[in-house]
Amino acid sequence: MFSRIPFEKVNWLISSFLIGTLFLALTAAPVYLWFFGLDTFQVVLFFVMFFATGFSITIGYHRLFSHRTFEAHWIVRLFTLLFGAAAFENSVLLWACEHRSHHKHVDHDDDPYCISKGLFHAHIGWLLFKLDPPPPFDNVADLKKDPLVMWQHRHIHWIAAVVAFVLPSIVGFLWGGWVSALGAFLIGGVARIVVLQHCTFCINSLCHYLGDRPYSSKCSARDSWLMAIVTLGEGYHNFHHEFQYDYRNGVKPWQFDPTKWAIWTLSKLGLAGKLRRVPEQKIILAELAEAHRRLDTSLAGGGLTETAAATLAAARTRLEAIEKQWIEKKREQFEWTREKLIMLRNETRAAIRTLHQLGLGESEGA
Ligand SMILES: [Zn+2]
Ligand SMILES: [Zn+2]
Repeated sequence: MFSRIPFEKVNWLISSFLIGTLFLALTAAPVYLWFFGLDTFQVVLFFVMFFATGFSITIGYHRLFSHRTFEAHWIVRLFTLLFGAAAFENSVLLWACEHRSHHKHVDHDDDPYCISKGLFHAHIGWLLFKLDPPPPFDNVADLKKDPLVMWQHRHIHWIAAVVAFVLPSIVGFLWGGWVSALGAFLIGGVARIVVLQHCTFCINSLCHYLGDRPYSSKCSARDSWLMAIVTLGEGYHNFHHEFQYDYRNGVKPWQFDPTKWAIWTLSKLGLAGKLRRVPEQKIILAELAEAHRRLDTSLAGGGLTETAAATLAAARTRLEAIEKQWIEKKREQFEWTREKLIMLRNETRAAIRTLHQLGLGESEGA
């Protein structure tokens, strides 16, 4: 088995960190718990560190720095740079550079975590083996002008070590001496990094594998409520790939997107502004086009019972009528009323429901 590993291509620094932290989380952390038990302090510290670093990645690294979906006060930028570093996912400059390439070349060779190369590659393999030359940083000119970003980039390893390990250990020491400091290092530091990293890695792997594609089937990104829970709201990845400049990923009111709620709250506190939203019509039209495409594919695929074909054809006719109305209104430069938009959306959803009822919806992992 080991003879098949391309050792000459292994990124030893990253691999030893990823494997070393996983090993400690599975051995030293349980041994500590066996001897000293789990107290409320360690649980609280774990979750405080998990959410501080996790939201720094989703709010800061992803939606603020990589996509510029809103503007933030320097306090928010500094906080997300400090705690984002403690997620050990490298500097925001490198992260954003790779992430922008992912969006630009999704599912193709130049996508750093391309799902077409397999689930393992997209999840962690791309980090263990550095097959490509280092990124030229040619798509992050805007970030290079930000002195805070460049300061974090220059000192990333020190910042990461201090915030991820030294900080929780000091808090642990102040709470309960050396034993507590050791627990904080292992649970709030090491175990938290492992859990958080795999949650983040899921965005690149399972979010391109599990769920549905209501907005566009042009790329592999999918919407999944389960992944949204694991990734602090990033699981509505099909929407995100279609509308990457929207600060929301879970755009529907019932969708679980705590990152969106946090950014909205920051804006109400005066710490964020210029939140970018894609107009509702544009979103509904994308859903409409995708529903249309799916109905057409299912009808053209044949093999349907007479009743199924008739149901699909009826759904398609209704969608076509709505689309025609839309085009006419647009030509006449009429603003669509709220009621019309709701009608358009309901009709689109009804068409998709028809597909699901007939068992023709996208199956998970398809
Ligand atoms: Zn993105
Ligand atoms: Zn993606």
